Formats: sequence, C-alpha cells, structure tokens
Amino acid sequence: MTTINEIFRAFAPEYIERYPNMPGHHRKVIAAIINCRSGKYGTTVYRCLKCGQKHFISRSCGNRHCPMCQYHKTQAWLEKQLNKQVGGQHFMITFTLPEEIRPIARQNQKLVYQALFKASSQALKKLAQDKRFIGTSLPGFTGVLQTWGRQLQYHPHIHYIVVSGGLSENRDAWIPSRKDFFVHEKPLSIIFRAIFMKEMKKAGLSGQIPSSVWKKDWVVDSEAMESADNSIRYLAPYVFRVAISNSRIVKVEDRFVYFKYRKHSSKQMKTMRLEVMEFIRRFLQHVLPSGFMKVRHFGFMNPNCCTPHETIVKLIEDHTGETLKKVEPSEPPKQYCSDCGGELVYLWSIIPMFHQRE
Ligand SMILES: [Zn+2]
Ligand SMILES: [Zn+2]
Repeated sequence: MTTINEIFRAFAPEYIERYPNMPGHHRKVIAAIINCRSGKYGTTVYRCLKCGQKHFISRSCGNRHCPMCQYHKTQAWLEKQLNKQVGGQHFMITFTLPEEIRPIARQNQKLVYQALFKASSQALKKLAQDKRFIGTSLPGFTGVLQTWGRQLQYHPHIHYIVVSGGLSENRDAWIPSRKDFFVHEKPLSIIFRAIFMKEMKKAGLSGQIPSSVWKKDWVVDSEAMESADNSIRYLAPYVFRVAISNSRIVKVEDRFVYFKYRKHSSKQMKTMRLEVMEFIRRFLQHVLPSGFMKVRHFGFMNPNCCTPHETIVKLIEDHTGETLKKVEPSEPPKQYCSDCGGELVYLWSIIPMFHQRE
C-alpha cells in the first residue's frame, strides 16, 4: 500500500524546491511527515516478554497533521475527554463558510477561523437564550474546525456537538430543548452571518469580500444524533482526522495520486486523481496555523464552567431518567515480537538532540 508519508518522502523535496517561499509551518509539517518513523526522531527499545529479544522501533513524529500519528492521538484524547461527557440527546450542528469567503480565509487563516468560531458559537448561545427555544444563557457544546471537503478541497466548517438543553440561570435545574432540533436553522444562519460580518469589518477584511455574500443564505445544518449519549465518542474521529487518511489512497502512478472519496449525499465511492504536486498543495492547505486550537468547549462544556461536571450529569439524568453509560477507552494497540509473537514491553527511548518532535 502507498502511504501519504511515502508520497511526501518521494515528492515533497521537489515541492519545496518549486515553492521556496511556503509558510514556515508547512515546512515543519513536511519535515515531520517525511521523518516519521524513519529513525530521525530517535528509537524506542522494547523487550519481548516471551523470548527476551530486544526490538528497536523508530519513533513517530507526533505531529497533529501526520496521517501516521492519528490513531494513537485519538485514543489519548478520548481517554482524557471521556470523563467530561454528559448524557441526554445531542445534536450535530454544522456551520459552513460560503464559497466567496474561502479565498480570503485561505490567505488569513488565523483571523478567519477565529471569526468562524466566534460567530457560530455566539449565534448558538444567543438563540439558546430565546424563550421560543430553550431560554437559558447556559447551553453546552463543543466545536471542531475542519477545513476540507471530500476531495481535499478547501472548505472550512465547524461541527458542533450540542447537548439538547441547558442549565437554568441559577444552575439548579435542567431545561431541555425540543427533541427534533436545538434551535431553528434559519435565524441561526442569519445571526451567524451578521456576527461574522462584524468580525470581518473589525479585522479590516470586509473590503475584500463581495457584498452579495451578506445577502445570500449561509448554510447551517442541524441533525439529531442517532444515539442519545456519549457525545465525546462522536466527536473523536472529527478531532483527529487529518484531511485524508492512508486507507483512502489507492495508488500513485505516473505522478498521479489516486484516492477514494464518497460522493456527496450517497454511499457510492469514487476515485479521484490529482497530479502529485497538486495533491501535496491540497494536503498542506489544511495545515492549521501553529498552535491554533481546533477543538473548543463552550458554556457548561467549558472546563472553566463553575458548575461541577457531576452536578450537570445528575441534573440531566434526573430529567431523562437514564443513567449515563460510562464508556471505557479501548486498549492502546500492543506491539508484538516479530520472532515469536510475544508481547513487547517498553524499556527506554533514545532521543537525538537535534530532531526534537514539535
Ligand atoms: Zn519474542
Ligand atoms: Zn507521524
């Protein structure tokens, strides 16, 4: 199988030569992906429990944009988050930036992504306060920014997992939302657009945006989640998914990368091919600005919320009459001896001075 790391090893040096002025954080990601498990980041030594043989395994890069490092990170994140979940029905609400704004977003990623988070989260909070819906200033939701569509194209959007209700203003009761929706999509999209416009003005970017975009409908999509609880587990794949995973790569032939994608609103899989320089360019446009937090918790889901987590869980349980199912994280993948199949145990790591992981 061809992996994205292999594609980068073979073709990224050419890409760097062609685009010497690329942003520094793109260069860092390229280096991480090329050097992942190559020995550059050092070696970890394991011993087989059965035959005693020592095994030397090259360390991974740990970069959040590396396709090889995702599984491990998802598990670690899940473990940390599982004790933050609450029960009850949940919604997934998705806010998408209209096409006309995408070129400006690509050039001003940090500013626009921040505005996207601000406009969407404030719109949710504002409507939750509306008596027609929930009537509280204390809803709880978690958002994850994604910048790609199925064909690796640039398509910034935020998925929110929203708990179906909120705490009462004095924080001693649970106020449920409707079962089929949290708030109406139409007013949500209007408020979202208005706050985003204000943010663009503040950032001095509104002059670059065609005025027609403020008159059209912005896409906000709300869906009730199939299962009532375990919000965090729903979110995990969104959190650590990178733009494209190795399992979607079909082959690389004559400088073309062939990869699978699912056709919009159907289960049908199609194959797309991109010239390899274009493939790398598309992959890199989804690299987030250094240090940018793509997962954010709001309202009572925020760790700074002054109502203890157990209290919220209890209030929701009292309301639904159902106890929150505790979900245990799955075991981290074990390593096995290539000689006898015995389990490997960690001994120590050899870490070089000059190829520190970021
Ligand atoms: Zn062994
Ligand atoms: Zn890696």
